[in-house]
Amino acid sequence: MTELLNVTGLTTSFHTSRGRVQAVRGVDLTVKPGEILGIVGESGSGKSVTCMSILRLLKRQGRIEGGSAVFDGRDLMELDEDALTDLRGNEIGVIFQDPMSSLNPTLTVGEQVIETVLRHRNIGRRAARARAVELFEMVRIPSAATRVDAYPHEFSGGMRQRVMIAIALACEPKLLIADEPTTALDVTIQRQILSLIKELQGRLGMAVILITHDLGVIAETADRVMVMYGGMVMEEAPVAEIFALPRHPYTRGLMASIPDPRTAGEGRLSPIPGTPPDMSDPPKGCPFAPRCPVAMRVCAEEMPRLYEAGGPANRSRCWLMDEAAPARAPYNTEDA
Ligand code: SF4
Ligand code: MG
Repeated sequence: MTELLNVTGLTTSFHTSRGRVQAVRGVDLTVKPGEILGIVGESGSGKSVTCMSILRLLKRQGRIEGGSAVFDGRDLMELDEDALTDLRGNEIGVIFQDPMSSLNPTLTVGEQVIETVLRHRNIGRRAARARAVELFEMVRIPSAATRVDAYPHEFSGGMRQRVMIAIALACEPKLLIADEPTTALDVTIQRQILSLIKELQGRLGMAVILITHDLGVIAETADRVMVMYGGMVMEEAPVAEIFALPRHPYTRGLMASIPDPRTAGEGRLSPIPGTPPDMSDPPKGCPFAPRCPVAMRVCAEEMPRLYEAGGPANRSRCWLMDEAAPARAPYNTEDA
């Protein structure tokens, strides 16, 4: 199947008073029509910046320094601002963690859906309002016909996220980018929102990029997963395969920190010791080396490439994948 989105060599830095922070370093990713790609990693791993770069919605200090992002035949890096504005909200929908910061508190939620529809579709107000009600029904907001006239503060967090989904899907985009869409919600509501996203993805046939720090969310929702660390892709595989056989030590560490429902509340969580690298001065070798329980000397000195690992759709950036890795001497041990 040809790809809907094909990103290559994406490189983004932030120019701050502390100097240049290399948030995204040469990311390649693809999304096929209709698939759910999960991007997982700890905070600061570069997953949000990757998506904001693709949408060219970076904050002022952010600069895309290289790469391309071809969406449905057009390179998003080359489009002018008008073409981009037209594309966002129309062909690519976006939802964020905190719906309150994206909704306008002074307008009714219905009005905000209507605005989106009128911006991208050549229809009248009455038809746009009918579309808003239809969308509210689609995202299962109870009493949709009257709730369109309510203000954001009259909604719970979960209902506000449903409004955001309605806005994002108003023009039936080919791609939905959801950045930590359930992180601010409690567990029951999280489940409902994730199953809603999955259901709508199936019904509308759109592709989804789901960003999360939670591998449990990926397990329930995604078809394929990309694990990021230090602004790079560390591992990529179909979801069933990565849970059956995680190859990358960082992925294994993330997995060990998923709460086991059978032992929930018993404190069996083991988060990965150590902290992510300082991206204003990233390590020259594997960014995970200082925290990796199986690091070798070569890891700290040379950046591993992304190796094919276990199948054509599986990649792992780790020296363990290289039979010929030089000097397989341990690194994080007493002599390190
Ligand atoms: Fe660990 Fe080395 Fe693999 Fe990095 S390259 S994850 S440090 S074994
Ligand atoms: Mg983020």
